[in-house]
Amino acid sequence: MKPVCIVIISILFLTHCAPNQDIQPFEQTRVMMDTFVQISIYDQNRTSEELKSISESAFKQIETIESITNDYDDSSAISLINRQAGERAVALDRVMLDLIQASDKINQISGGAFDITLGSVKQLWSFAHENPRIPGDALLQQQLENVGHHHFIIEDGAIQFILPGVRLDLGAIAKGYAIDTAIEVLKENGISNAMVNAGGDLRTICSDLTKGKRRVWIKNPRRPEAFLGFFRMDEGSVATSGDYERFFIYESERYHHILDPKTGKPARGCVSVTLQAATATEADALATAVFVLGPDRGMELVNSLPGVEAIIVFERDGKLDWSVSTGLKKKFKKIN
Ligand code: AMP
Ligand code: MG
Repeated sequence: MKPVCIVIISILFLTHCAPNQDIQPFEQTRVMMDTFVQISIYDQNRTSEELKSISESAFKQIETIESITNDYDDSSAISLINRQAGERAVALDRVMLDLIQASDKINQISGGAFDITLGSVKQLWSFAHENPRIPGDALLQQQLENVGHHHFIIEDGAIQFILPGVRLDLGAIAKGYAIDTAIEVLKENGISNAMVNAGGDLRTICSDLTKGKRRVWIKNPRRPEAFLGFFRMDEGSVATSGDYERFFIYESERYHHILDPKTGKPARGCVSVTLQAATATEADALATAVFVLGPDRGMELVNSLPGVEAIIVFERDGKLDWSVSTGLKKKFKKIN
């Protein structure tokens, strides 16, 4: 079997800021968390030296979250938990506790579509390798036994797995959480207008400097040079989950990294989900959850959650189509 491997670290979804000509943001970009992270600060009262130091603190915060949640690093907290929590309770630091509790909430409201215990199943797919493979059904079934949030318990700030084969994977939420904590650092330093954009997943805070001027542009997931449309957003978070981010094609079928916890296989139904929520943690996790639920059940969930909006792109009869959540219908400007 020789699947064609195409791995795209996506910066397909971008937010454009269009402030006054005379207000330029202080901007820095780094490669972190497997993508480009850009911090833009709008501030007229501080020197660029001061802004640089504040921006550095926010990057440092993202670095910290990455070092805790990176399962490719054997010394990270997540790796330690995955190695040891099958045998004994492992103490959780504040970040891991926050992330697991937030994940548990999204697991519940999505009826299990979002599931951080997919780690053992994800290992079977190895999307990050040069030669990805399609695991056999027997192997998938075996690892699916380890999937489900009821397979771990948290007590007195420590986690223990009920089954030794459980593995946690925070790939669908850690980036959002890192963005939120970076925004916190900016706010603590007195910044009131900024954007932290990690490969298209982003959060903005807004002052009068750019009020009414920020737009979230949605690109066509199958034709990156074309836009589907845009909507205005002063303050909030947006994240996208897509089948084009990490995938390979084998015998004309697309195998991507967003897995259905029921089957352990790539979730079918959506091409991409761009989701708006108050925090980037929620936006990131919910975008993944809605992707797994598919266009109909996914949109139902979005429309039932206050302050949550989405644009769901899907294929029907070989053609690309999309749906827009109730609260975004009037705001979303389609581009023909
Ligand atoms: P995202 O791009 O935010 O949708 O996250 C995708 C990543 O989350 C994958 O690369 C996996 O690490 C992990 N993942 C895949 N499927 C799920 C799922 N159903 N629930 C939670 N995490 C998942
Ligand atoms: Mg996500």
